[in-house]
Amino acid sequence: MTKILDGKVVNEKIAEQLRTEIAKRGTRPKLVIIQVGDVPESNAYIGRKKAFGQKIGAEVKLKRFPETISQKELVGQIIVYNRDPQYHGIIVQMPIPKSLDKDQIIDSISPQKDVDGLTSINLKLLWENRKEGHIPATTKGILTLLDYYKIPIAGKHVVVVGRSFLVGKPTALAFLNRDATVTITHSKSKNLPSITKTANILVVAAGKAKLIGRNHVSSGQVVVDVGINVVNNQKLETRNQKPGTEPHDRKIVGDVDFESVRKIVTAITPVPGGIGPMTVASLFENLLETYKSQT
Ligand code: NDP
Repeated sequence: MTKILDGKVVNEKIAEQLRTEIAKRGTRPKLVIIQVGDVPESNAYIGRKKAFGQKIGAEVKLKRFPETISQKELVGQIIVYNRDPQYHGIIVQMPIPKSLDKDQIIDSISPQKDVDGLTSINLKLLWENRKEGHIPATTKGILTLLDYYKIPIAGKHVVVVGRSFLVGKPTALAFLNRDATVTITHSKSKNLPSITKTANILVVAAGKAKLIGRNHVSSGQVVVDVGINVVNNQKLETRNQKPGTEPHDRKIVGDVDFESVRKIVTAITPVPGGIGPMTVASLFENLLETYKSQT
């Protein structure tokens, strides 16, 4: 039977551990989420972070700025939070408007408060496999989930589909640091199925619904689907739509065609309920680390 790697279960366990640890300490870790503009998807992600923070006893403040904020002003605001000892973690919620220089904004976050692990300093520490840095939350979540289900990593062939700065590259590096043999693929890779089929662990972070189907996988594999795609759900549309109402026609799917792939592989993460909840939990594990180092 194919094992479903359930991120919600592990998210709950991490929440319980963090809640206990915070309760023992007496003071609460505090995170600020900086949002620029009002992207609906970002609002959903922020809502989940706030809910998780509340569950474990952390404080989460949302600081929202208009899309018109200048680079200088935003960097200035981040520096204010860097210097404020009340705050132990800072996140800039992506995406931010294209008019802003994302790299400079991320790098203006103090590495000691960088719970997303995306500043150049933390990425360099990951590059060098040094433990004092903070690993990007999605990458950390993937590793924690595999560890929870006792899936061995050292010596395995890991294929990562996607080479983004946010997911693909840090994830590939983190697997390399765990002694895996790593292949990274991207949109220009030739004959993707011939590469993905050779993986022991296949991690997909491309942002393309159903990119990975039955022809891309082989038996014995562990498949980690990071993708989050909003698609139209025709069946739901026809079944649920009442005359004169908006259709409930959208659903979240990953990059993997779950139903056909699950019949072939040994283990697979669902979407939703796989890496999404792991990312949120890992972010707060990072917050606890930054909090401990500052108190
Ligand atoms: P990006 O768009 O930044 O990167 C996508 C990567 O996938 C690129 O490297 C791209 O290649 C590659 N790619 C695109 N199409 C193909 C293809 N046909 N074959 C092979 N590779 C392809 O996305 P992100 O990395 O930021 O995010 C990826 C997905 O993960 C998204 O769906 C996002 O929503 C989701 N996500 C989920 C999280 C979670 O918590 N579950 C957290 C963060 C992201 P190239 O470089 O050549 O363009």
